[in-house]
Amino acid sequence: MEQYMTPQEMKEIEEILESKKDQLLRAARQSISEQVNAGDPLPADSIDISTDESLQVTELRLRDREKYLLAKIEKALVRMKTDPEFGYCSECGAEIGFPRLKARPMAELCIDCKEEQERAEKRLPDKRQEEERNSRSFFP
Ligand SMILES: [Zn+2]
Repeated sequence: MEQYMTPQEMKEIEEILESKKDQLLRAARQSISEQVNAGDPLPADSIDISTDESLQVTELRLRDREKYLLAKIEKALVRMKTDPEFGYCSECGAEIGFPRLKARPMAELCIDCKEEQERAEKRLPDKRQEEERNSRSFFP
């Protein structure tokens, strides 16, 4: 599939992803420094986590929600370099669009599919939702 975004736009999205990742890791480092130096936290900049080992420790200490976000960010970063379908909706194949990706660079669905998904999630619990989708495609 052809990329509809310009290299400049792709670069912007990559930078947004990188800075989100940086924020997450920095927040994790901050909480480690608070644990290690209770009552006397060091500025985040003075803590060196440049080695792989300490980065792993940092990641281990991330809370679940942060881990989930970080995984999404990493996935998006890899996809934008390797997957020609990056930027296209994984549900319907439509262009997600630069403005939406700029606001939500980890988005995998276009706004229509996302809204549909949210409506479905509110309407039905997970299992029913799946059944409903299957039966709908068999009996439209
Ligand atoms: Zn879609």
